[in-house]
Amino acid sequence: MTKRSPAGRFTELAFPIPPVQDEALASYVPRLASANHVRLDHFIEHLTGRRRQYPRPAEAPAHALAALTARSVQTLLYALPELRAGIPLPGLRVEGRTLGRYPNRPGLLCRRCRQQKLISVPVTRWQRHDQNVCLRHGLWIGEGVSIESDQVELAPCPEIVRAHRYHRRLIGRLGRVPVALAYHEAQQIHLEWVSQGRFQDIRFSRFRRLLGADWRVNRESAVLNAAIHPEVVALAGLLGSVYWRGLAGSSRPGDVLRFYEEVGSRVHAGYRRPADYFDPLGQWVEEQVSAHRLGRTPPSPSNVFAMSNYGYTDTH
Ligand SMILES: [Zn+2]
Repeated sequence: MTKRSPAGRFTELAFPIPPVQDEALASYVPRLASANHVRLDHFIEHLTGRRRQYPRPAEAPAHALAALTARSVQTLLYALPELRAGIPLPGLRVEGRTLGRYPNRPGLLCRRCRQQKLISVPVTRWQRHDQNVCLRHGLWIGEGVSIESDQVELAPCPEIVRAHRYHRRLIGRLGRVPVALAYHEAQQIHLEWVSQGRFQDIRFSRFRRLLGADWRVNRESAVLNAAIHPEVVALAGLLGSVYWRGLAGSSRPGDVLRFYEEVGSRVHAGYRRPADYFDPLGQWVEEQVSAHRLGRTPPSPSNVFAMSNYGYTDTH
């Protein structure tokens, strides 16, 4: 039984369930309260001294949580990224760990991984841009997933899983931050292509394989994001490369054509150059070329990314 002090405060939880790695406080705290049959508002009041939906990172209740769950503060700081925000972390090795804030996003843990952990409710954790596929279970867990049933089975489209592996190799080769920004650019270009109805054949083929003949897909859906993933990652491989980005921004037309040829070879077979002014890749290339022409800082990953504050991981 959950124990309370004579003043009615909790002192120790009967079921101090462990957090999942990188779990969001808004997921772990309600799970703890529910597992111990404690009202969430009472529980939060105990942790923070205030009633609200869930504790804000600024009110990091690491010590209170540690006492209630009989876990060390250090264990909780490693597992719950939001607890690490804004506090000194002497002795903790946090380099490369996921941050509990933008540009990372809260995402649902793979439903099969959750079941294997014998957890009965969905778990939300902080995800980096490259955490899109559960390789163990072949489910899409990336952009567009808002409920567990959105985690589409990828077995009918093994190229999406292959793209995920390639994405990870890209990060190993070029670094997480350059790839993150290139991926974001490639994603925006593809979503615009989707809006314009370009490259439909490959998308529709994947929709059919993933959902069956009578598929219905909307713009924000997980299935759409999964279906464009192979080409998004392939384009990110070019945009994240200093060499190919240099050709795209070159003042020599031959270099730009060489870049487009590579897009045709690696991303969309047969792509040779923008079909019209509205092609988002053509617009992106124009931005690179004019940045060169105006003598602005050349738009290469090494300097664009150094200037950015894309803090994906802890750097303490
Ligand atoms: Zn899984």
